[in-house]
Parts: sequence; structure tokens; C-alpha cells
Amino acid sequence: MARDSHCVFCKIVAVALPAHVVYEDDGVIAFLDVNPLSDGHLLVIPRDHYSALTDMPVNEAAHFFSCVPKLGHALLQVTEATGFNVLINNGRDAGQVVAHVHAHLIPRRPLDDLGYRWPAGRYADREAERIAAAFQSSLAEH
Ligand code: 5GP
Ligand code: ZN
Repeated sequence: MARDSHCVFCKIVAVALPAHVVYEDDGVIAFLDVNPLSDGHLLVIPRDHYSALTDMPVNEAAHFFSCVPKLGHALLQVTEATGFNVLINNGRDAGQVVAHVHAHLIPRRPLDDLGYRWPAGRYADREAERIAAAFQSSLAEH
């Protein structure tokens, strides 16, 4: 089991730090975020320490993501939220503070005050084609 002795989430995995665990299995643990954006805000983490999603072996990533729907079902039941955001901050510039992969499940309700910023833009001429082709080349290599 890959652990980082300085990592706060590895300490939760090792039961060296308490957490309000809501679900666990061989691959993942889900627990309440200690500073919730709303009541029932969950974090789900792989037991193994990976800083970035892109470091995860595909089978572990598959299991990690497969847990999200059932956690979401429970979240909707328990919190009586009417929706939830699934958020992964991947990398410091994306807002990741804890360098152990985790997904946030954030309960949402109509007119809650959490807000949502989505400043959508438009592609310049031929930019979408160029970028899509770059993705296709990159993905063909992997
Ligand atoms: P990030 O910005 O890295 O995506 O979010 C890290 C999250 O981990 C934050 O929402 C923060 O409240 C939560 N967190 C940090 N330390 C602990 C802890 O010791 N226990 C729990 N339950 N949550 C933590
Ligand atoms: Zn860790």
C-alpha cells in the first residue's frame, strides 16, 4: 500500500487521524470533509497515495470513479440535497491543497449560496479543429 507519512489523507487511511468515515472498501475511503461547503460534503480518496489523478493506475482509477454514483445516491438521501457537484482539484493551480487524489461530492440545493462560476468562451476560427487534432494525436500515443 503506497503511503506518504506527511500526507493527511494517508493518516486517515492508516487510522492515525480520525475522520467521519461513511464508506470504505479495499480500494477507497469516503469521509466527511472537515470544513464542508455544505452539510454532507464528502471526500472520496484511493487508499493508495497518488498526488495526481494522472498518476493512478487505470484499475484503481476505475474503481475510484465507480464509487461515485453510490456515494451520490446516499448523499442525496441523507442530506436531502437536490443535486451535487463532483469536483476534483488536480494540481496546485487547479486549487488542490491536499496532494492525495480526492473527489469532492458537494450537496447542492436550490438557491444555496455556494454559487457557480462558468465563464464560457468561444473558439477562434479553426482553433477547435487544431485543439481536437492535438488531443487525438496525444491520445493515439497512449
Ligand atoms: P483540495 O483543495 O485539496 O481539493 O481540498 C482538500 C479538502 O480536504 C478541503 O476541503 C479540506 O477541508 C479537506 N481536509 C483537509 N484536511 C482534512 C482532514 O484532516 N480531515 C478531513 N476530513 N478533511 C480535510
Ligand atoms: Zn496520501
